[in-house]
Amino acid sequence: MNPEQEPVAPLSWDETLESLRRVAAAFEIGDAAAAEAYRLRFLSKKGEVTRLFEAFRALSGPEKKSVGQALNALRTEVEERWKEASAGTAQAAAASGATAPAAAPQLPAPVWGRGSRHPLSLTRRLMLDFFGELGFRWSEGPEIVDDWHNFGALHFEADHPARDMQDTFFVNLDPVYLLRTHTSSVQVKEMMKGLLPLRTVSPGRVYRNETVSARSHMQFHQVEGLYIDRDVSFADLKKVLYDFAIHLFGPDVQIRFRPSYFPFTEPSAEMDVTCFLCSGQGCNVCKHSGWVEILGCGMVDPQVLENCGIDSEVYSGYAFGIGIERLTMLRHRIPDIRLFYENDVRFVKQFGV
Ligand SMILES: [Zn+2]
Repeated sequence: MNPEQEPVAPLSWDETLESLRRVAAAFEIGDAAAAEAYRLRFLSKKGEVTRLFEAFRALSGPEKKSVGQALNALRTEVEERWKEASAGTAQAAAASGATAPAAAPQLPAPVWGRGSRHPLSLTRRLMLDFFGELGFRWSEGPEIVDDWHNFGALHFEADHPARDMQDTFFVNLDPVYLLRTHTSSVQVKEMMKGLLPLRTVSPGRVYRNETVSARSHMQFHQVEGLYIDRDVSFADLKKVLYDFAIHLFGPDVQIRFRPSYFPFTEPSAEMDVTCFLCSGQGCNVCKHSGWVEILGCGMVDPQVLENCGIDSEVYSGYAFGIGIERLTMLRHRIPDIRLFYENDVRFVKQFGV
């Protein structure tokens, strides 16, 4: 201690309590963090009020009684202010939404529903599983393609209606790039690799410039199949598609082929199956014919093989194209194709995992 300095007399209990009362009253409590700082400084185990109680235990006699009463009064005062301030800051936080109340760890965790596969994915898997077992390899390609891969190689005449702007989304006109109108563009790519025999299925999204309605959409999904080898015949095609129909609709299904036209197959056909709802008796779904169309198919036009560098004198092949949406709508009696793209979980959850 500096000898020249007046020795400072220790504060009396009254002075100590009054000093602490002022300090506590002057402490600003503006938010929850300040309220917590206030509690730590004055009321916690090592807080200033608590420490005074420890010192108070050393007192005795009449002083102990009066100091005890004053100390209790101070503690009550400090505690009240803290409680009021805490309630006020919590209300303010709740009103402003700034700070969410801390999660209570004993509450049960929110229940997350199990996810389910999209019905289109389920149908696609069903189809690819079947063709995969027959040795068909999965192939994919870009959704934006040039004119050659989508039309030219596939023997679309220059004036074929499918080339019309009404049916195709063109991305660029010179040179021509477009959103593929079928996954046959992938088959062209596979054929041009020259690896024979070729047995492949090409699933994917395709685009047509059509008005969106319950029955048609400007985007949908296909699985197209292609088999090229020596001595491939229409009988091979019929056998594979018959087995496919049984795989999808059960052993009692019957099939029929109707002559049709596609630029890239000759001969071409559309395949119907007996209506699985009325078993051929006639209903709304089959328009009372007893049959529903499920795919288009045919023998690959020799000109298409030649366009892709395959000797059509040696090789022949068949091809088929199946709309995944159409097949899914038929199998599950879905009345509107737009339901597939609305992401309504109530719809999607109905089809299993
Ligand atoms: Zn029917």
